[in-house]
Amino acid sequence: MNPVVLGAGPAGCTAAILLARNGARPLLIDRHAEAGDALCGGFVSWRTAAQLRQVDCDPAGLGGWPVRRLRLFADGRAVEAMLPATGFGLSRRALDTAMRAAAVKAGADFQVDHARGVAAGLVQGRNRDWSADAVFLAAGKHDVRGLPRPRKAADPALGLRVRLDGDHRLAALVDDAIELHLFPGGYAGIVRQEGGSVNICLAVRKSLLSQAGGQPLELLAQLAVRCPQLGTRLVGLSSGHRVDTIASVPYGYVTQRTDAGLFRLGDQAAVIPSLAGEGMAIAVASGLAAASAYLAHGPGAAPAYQRAFARRATRPVRTAEVIWHIAERGWGARALLAAAGCAPWLSRAAMQLSRIAQPSLVTQPWQSSIVPS
Ligand SMILES: Cc1cc2nc3c(=O)[nH]c(=O)nc-3n(C[C@H](O)[C@H](O)[C@H](O)COP(=O)(O)OP(=O)(O)OC[C@H]3O[C@@H](n4cnc5c(N)ncnc54)[C@H](O)[C@@H]3O)c2cc1C
Repeated sequence: MNPVVLGAGPAGCTAAILLARNGARPLLIDRHAEAGDALCGGFVSWRTAAQLRQVDCDPAGLGGWPVRRLRLFADGRAVEAMLPATGFGLSRRALDTAMRAAAVKAGADFQVDHARGVAAGLVQGRNRDWSADAVFLAAGKHDVRGLPRPRKAADPALGLRVRLDGDHRLAALVDDAIELHLFPGGYAGIVRQEGGSVNICLAVRKSLLSQAGGQPLELLAQLAVRCPQLGTRLVGLSSGHRVDTIASVPYGYVTQRTDAGLFRLGDQAAVIPSLAGEGMAIAVASGLAAASAYLAHGPGAAPAYQRAFARRATRPVRTAEVIWHIAERGWGARALLAAAGCAPWLSRAAMQLSRIAQPSLVTQPWQSSIVPS
C-alpha cells in the first residue's frame, strides 16, 4: 500500500514531493481541485524560502515580491528593522498552485475528496475510503472529524484577510517591508505580493470583532480611526471588498502524540502565532521531516517523528506566543516598539528565536540516501 497525504497545502505538498522523489508513490488528496487563496499573511520568511527551494518552489521564481525590512507600528509610532535575509510577499494561490504542480511532477497521484475522518492507515472520504500504509495528516487550519485540536483561549483568536489589487499608492507605501500594526486585541500584517497586490491580514480576539457587531468591514473601519497609519493604508478599502475570515485559530498548539502510521504535519503538528510569519516554514519543515522518517523507518516511525518535531517546534511557537501576548496589550506594544528602537539586536533576536531550526536532512546519517532536491 502507498502512503496517503491528506491536504495539498505547503505541508502536504512538501511531504508528497519528497515521498514521490524517493519512489514511495504517494496519493495526495485535497477537497479542492484547484488551490484557493488560503487565508494567510502571505509573508514567506527567509527560512521558509530556503526550504521551499529544496522542493523546487523558489518564491522569487514564482514572482514573489522581495521583502527586506520589518516595519512595526503602535500608538502612532513606527520603528523599522532590517530582516536577517530577504523574505517574499507571495499569495497562497500562487504558492500552493506551484507546490501541487511540483508534487504531481515528482510523481504524486492527486485526487479530489473531502475527508470525513482519519485514522492510522485510513482516510474516510466523501467519495470513498482510502487505505494506506501511512497517513500524512496535513489538513491545516481545519480540524478533521475525530481529531480536534484543543482550544484553550476563552477569547479565541480569529483571522481576517482582505486583498487590495491595483492600489499603486498603497503598494509603493508598503514597498519592501512586512508591516505589523499592533493594537489592543490583535495586529494587522501588510505585505506587497506578486503583481503589485497588497495582502492585509489580521489576527484579532473574537471580542474585538463582536464589538464591531461581528462585521469585519466595520472592524476595519474602527481600526482605521484608532490606528492612523493603518487608516492611511486602508483608504482604498470599500464595501465591495471581500473580507475572508477564519474562526478560532488554535495558536500555541503543539502535539507530541500520534499513532504509528499517522504523521501529523503543518498546522496539525504545531500552530505558531501568525505575527511571527513562520507558519509556512513549520509546515514545510514538518513535511520534510515526516517524509524522511517514513522513508528511513516506515510507518512505525510516526510517534518518534512527532516527538522530535514537537521538540523542534516548541521554541519558536512559545517565543511567538510570548511576543503575541505582549504585543496585543497597549502597554506591551509600546514597550516592544521602544525596545526595537533602542536595541535593534532585540528585534533580531526575536526574529531568530521564532524561526524553526532548518531540517536536518544533511546531519542525520540515516537520511543520507534521501533526495531533497
Ligand atoms: C491570520 C493568519 C495569518 C498568517 N500569516 C502567515 C504568514 O504571513 N506567513 C506564514 O508563514 N504563515 C502564516 N500563517 C500560517 C500559515 O497560514 C499556516 O501555518 C500554513 O498554511 C499551514 O500549512 P498547512 O499545509 O499545514 O495547512 P493549510 O495551508 O491550511 O492547507 C491545508 C490543506 O488541506 C485541505 N483540507 C483541509 N481539510 C480537508 C479535508 N477534510 N479533506 C480534504 N482536504 C482538506 C485544504 O483544502 C488545504 O489545501 C498565518 C495564519 C493565520 C491564521
